[in-house]
Order: sequence, then structure tokens, then C-alpha cells
Amino acid sequence: MSLNENLSLGLPHTTRLRLEELDVVFVDLDDTIVEYRTACKKAFREVTKLLPELGNEDVERLEIDYQLLRSENLPKLFYNVISPEEERKERLDMVLRTRDIHLEDSLLELMNKVFNDSFWKNRRASDGAVEFLEMCRVKSVPVTVITNGDREMQEKSLEVARLKTLVESVITPMRLEEMKPNSSLFERALRVTASRKEHTVMIGDSWEYDVVGSLKAGIKPIWVNRSKLRTPPDSGVEWVTSLSDLTQNMKGGDKNV
Ligand SMILES: [Mg+2]
Repeated sequence: MSLNENLSLGLPHTTRLRLEELDVVFVDLDDTIVEYRTACKKAFREVTKLLPELGNEDVERLEIDYQLLRSENLPKLFYNVISPEEERKERLDMVLRTRDIHLEDSLLELMNKVFNDSFWKNRRASDGAVEFLEMCRVKSVPVTVITNGDREMQEKSLEVARLKTLVESVITPMRLEEMKPNSSLFERALRVTASRKEHTVMIGDSWEYDVVGSLKAGIKPIWVNRSKLRTPPDSGVEWVTSLSDLTQNMKGGDKNV
């Protein structure tokens, strides 16, 4: 099926495009090009070492609870009711309180520092991210990060992960309603980068936010499915298990994206 036939059928996710044909590559940040959940788990491991009360608590469970609380705090964060730093401390406190651990403020402060030091130390480029972004640069295809995260934090993350020079721009929501998976963030990103949706791909690790969101905006998604989860039947969505695989696919001359 040709590109035009696909487009006329409204199936942007099945179109085949060469990397050189793209106006822009959109990428998600957390756990797509920069480690996030692993960094959180390692940070909890450090806190657990210093808090015997946590005993043999599973860091996987601690990390999941920590992420769930973030979703609840998003409106407060978004409207600057609370700073990102304060919000993290509050979240850590809540995760501990649900385990009946009530720390005095000075100790909580210390644990939060231990958490943050470890988190930022492990906020690294995901495997294969540098090679992928360098390939885009060699092919002169600009890369724009599309993330629901706080702009300042995400800029810092790119710097810490040493990816800043490989990324053209960072787009974050200006309104709560603009967050992924809503299509409006992608649509603004297309306008800002003066890109055609038919010549754009969105690469991300989240089916719910990155894949569904970009499909709503008519942009072809490529799902970074590191856990090798099953794709919904007949979705037709292209997926890879790593960015290295994606780089190899795209480098392969006759291969398209
Ligand atoms: Mg992500």
C-alpha cells in the first residue's frame, strides 16, 4: 500500500517514511530517552538502607506508589501551588506515611536529599538514546521532546543526561488540558516546529500517553516497548524493544520508519 493510500484511509500509523523524509522526530523524555523509573527505584534503595523501619519493603512497590501520587499532584504542580522540589518531598512523606513511618521534618528533609541525590545521579540517557539522537542529527532531522513534565526539570534532565545538544526543542503543556494523551500538545508541537503531521513520528514508551496521544493528532507513533508487552490486536502500531533496535532499523538503508 502506498503512502498516499494509507493517508487517504486515515491510517497514519501504517505509513512508511524514510528518516530523511521526516520534518521532525518527536520523542518522549522519561523512560524513552532518559532513565526515570530505574532512577526512582535506585533512590528508594538508598532511602531503604537508611530507614530500618522500611525493612524489606519492595522498591518496585515503593516506586509504583510514588508515581501514583504524582498523578494526583499534577494539578497542584501545574498551577504552581507547590514547587517540584516540595512536591517530591511531600510524595516521599506520603509513601512513608502509608507504611506507618512518620518522620520529623529534619529527617524527612535528609531522606529527601538522599533520594534526590541518588535520583539525579542515575538520571542517565536510556540505552541507545545517544546513538539514536546522533543518527537524527547526521540525517539533519531535528528532534523535539514532547513531555508532560515540568519544563525546568526536564531541561535539567536533558543536561544531566548529556542530551541537551542533541535535542532541538522541548515542548511542555501550557494548560492541564494540554497534557498527553490529549492531541493539543502534539498539534502545538507541529505548529511550533512548522512540521507536517504526515512527515512526523512520535517515539515513546507509554502506550497510553505517547501512542494514543500521537494517533489522536494523526501522527505516526513508534512504541518503545522494552517490556515486550502485547500490542492491542490489529492496532498496526509499529514497536521496537529498544532505541538501539530503532536505530538499526532506520540505519538499514532500505528500511523505513
Ligand atoms: Mg515516558
